[in-house]
Amino acid sequence: MRGAAIALVSNRTMKKISILGATGSIGRQTLAIVRQHPDEFKITALAAQKNVAALGAAVREFQPELVAIADEGEYQNLKNKLSGLKTKILVGEEGVIAVAEYNVDICVAAIVGIAGLAPTLAAIEQGRMVALANKEALVCAGPLMLSAIEKSGAKILPVDSEHNAIFQILENHNRDQVKKIIITASGGPFREKSKAEIYNATPEEALKHPNWSMGAKITIDSATLMNKGLELIEAHYLFAMPPEQIEILIHPQSIIHSMVEYVDGSVLAQLGPPDMTVPISYCLGYPNRIVTEAKPLNFAEIKDLSFERPDFNRFPALNFTRAALRAGGTMPTIMNAANEIAVAAFLASKIPFGRITEIIDAAMQQVENTRITTMADLFAADAAARQKAEEMI
Ligand code: NAD
Ligand code: MG
Repeated sequence: MRGAAIALVSNRTMKKISILGATGSIGRQTLAIVRQHPDEFKITALAAQKNVAALGAAVREFQPELVAIADEGEYQNLKNKLSGLKTKILVGEEGVIAVAEYNVDICVAAIVGIAGLAPTLAAIEQGRMVALANKEALVCAGPLMLSAIEKSGAKILPVDSEHNAIFQILENHNRDQVKKIIITASGGPFREKSKAEIYNATPEEALKHPNWSMGAKITIDSATLMNKGLELIEAHYLFAMPPEQIEILIHPQSIIHSMVEYVDGSVLAQLGPPDMTVPISYCLGYPNRIVTEAKPLNFAEIKDLSFERPDFNRFPALNFTRAALRAGGTMPTIMNAANEIAVAAFLASKIPFGRITEIIDAAMQQVENTRITTMADLFAADAAARQKAEEMI
C-alpha cells in the first residue's frame, strides 16, 4: 500500500500554467494557489492589461518564461521593472495571444469581457486545457468556440463556481438522463430592494456583494443579475443543454453552487464555501483534488439553506439572455457589448443603475442581428452595439 502511494505521488508531474488576466481577481487567486503548491505547479506565462505594479511583482515572484502587457503605453515601465530577469516581455494584443498560445498544461482564461475572446480562442486552437473564467467569450462566440474545440481537441474546465459545480456533478453520469440543470444565484445586493431603490442605487451600494469578492464588472453584473443571464448562456454551451432545461434559482447563502436533476427524481448538488479558491483549485488539480485553505463549511452553523424564484420584473436582465440565445447570431454579442459599456458608465457615475438594463434593451432592439460566419461579423456587431450604448449615455 505504502509503495503504491509513493508511486502515485512521484508519477504526478509538475503542471505548467499560464494566466490570461493575471492581475485580476481570478488571476491573483490562481497565483495564490500556485504559491501554496510549488511542487505541483509552475507559472510559465502571464498576461494582463496595464497593471504594471501587480504584473511586475508576479513576474519577479514566479519568474515565468514569458509575460505580455496589452497596453503599449506601459511596456517601457514593465521593462524597467523587470530589468535583470530572464523573462521575455511582449506587448499588445499579439503579445497576449502569444501567451495564450504558449505551450502549457493549463491556460487560465481570466480576462474580463470580450477582450478575452481572441486570446481564449487562441489557446483553444492550440488544443490546450483551458480553465475558463472569461464567460463573456463563450456568450459572444459559443458556436465558434465549440467548433474550435472539436477541431483542436482542447478541453474546457469551467472556473465559474456554478459551472464548476455542474461539471463536477455530471462527471461519470449519463448526460441523456439529465432532466434539468439548476443554476443558483445569490440574488446580489438588491435582492430585497424595491424597483425604485434599485434604479437609483449608487456604485458603492452595487459593489457590496453579500457573499463573493470579485472584480468590479462581474460584481455589477451580479447586482443586475446579468451575470446569471450570462451564466445561462455559458451553461447552454458548456453542457449542450437547451435553455428550457436550465433553471435559475435564487439561493441567498451561496452554499449550494448549482444542482442537476436526473430523470429518476434524484437531485445532485455541489456545496462549498463561497470562495473561488475551490473551483480554481479543482481546475488546476484536475482530475485530482488539491488541498486548499478555503474555510470549510460548518453545517452545524448553517441555519438556513433557502430558495426563491428570481423576480424578472425587478431584474429584467434575466429576460435579455434567454431572448439573445433564442435570437442567436450576433444578438448575444450585442447584449454583451451594451452591458460592458453601460456597466463602465455606471461605475464612472455617468448613469444611474437602472439605466444599465435600459441601455442593453435598447441596443438589442436597435442594433441589427446578423449571422456569424467569421470573427469579423462578431467584432462588427460588438462595435455597433458599443456605439449605440455610448450614444445613450
Ligand atoms: P478583474 O477585473 O478583477 O480582472 C480582469 C483581468 O483581465 C485583469 O488582469 C486585466 O489586466 C485583464 N484584462 C482586461 N482587459 C485586458 C486586455 N485587453 N488584454 C489583456 N488582459 C486584459 O476581473 P475578474 O473578476 O478576475 O474576472 C475575470 C473573468 O472571470 C470575468 O469574465 C468574470 O466574469 C469571470 N469570473 C470571475 C469571478 C470572480 O470571482 N472574480 C467568478 C466567476 C467568473
Ligand atoms: Mg458564477
